[in-house]
Amino acid sequence: MRILVVEDEKKVASFIKKGLEEQSYVVDTAFDGLEGERLASQTPYDAIILDVLLPKQDGVVTCQKIRHRGVSTPVLILTALGETDDKVRGLDSGADDYLTKPFHFEELLARVRALLRRKSQDKSALLQAGSLVLDPVTRKVEREGRQIRLTSREFALLEYFMRNKGQILSRANLAQHVWNVSFDMESNVIDVYVKLLRQKIDRGFDQPMLQTIVGAGYVLKDPDEND
Ligand code: CA
Repeated sequence: MRILVVEDEKKVASFIKKGLEEQSYVVDTAFDGLEGERLASQTPYDAIILDVLLPKQDGVVTCQKIRHRGVSTPVLILTALGETDDKVRGLDSGADDYLTKPFHFEELLARVRALLRRKSQDKSALLQAGSLVLDPVTRKVEREGRQIRLTSREFALLEYFMRNKGQILSRANLAQHVWNVSFDMESNVIDVYVKLLRQKIDRGFDQPMLQTIVGAGYVLKDPDEND
């Protein structure tokens, strides 16, 4: 899942980025409102964290503008303590939630997870596809009750597949949501990771879930659901 952090205080921005990266998210940062608007309009993010007090263009105006551009990515705004007006303006501008500074990172993380759930129909905290279950909080993965150990990148890849269950995902799409901007599309890294992931989630089970669609990409299918 790819997240944009728009925050001019570099220390805060890098603290958030580092924390989210430890949770296997891919994170881009912008340090003013205009840069935030530009990135949010160009890249299909899964969530945006937007500070209200920003140089060049404040967070509320930035949020309004990206909504006017048709970007429906969930937005969490960061407001200063006691600024009720900012919260109201933020939510009215099209933000989905707000968090007051200073905050505990765990709370930010819980709100980001809640935002990511908004995009999917399934509001449960656990991601499920057939007998495969991924818990974004504990970062545990199981199939038929057997625990599956994944590396950080494999976990990020599986989380993205599970949030987009049944959809064919191209390599370009996977690169945008699971790898960072410097990713080399010419390499076969994605195929290698999909293969590794497939070995871990499908090997030893009757029904393969992670399927290759020749010429199009990959899809994670719930064996219990017909399409
Ligand atoms: Ca700020």
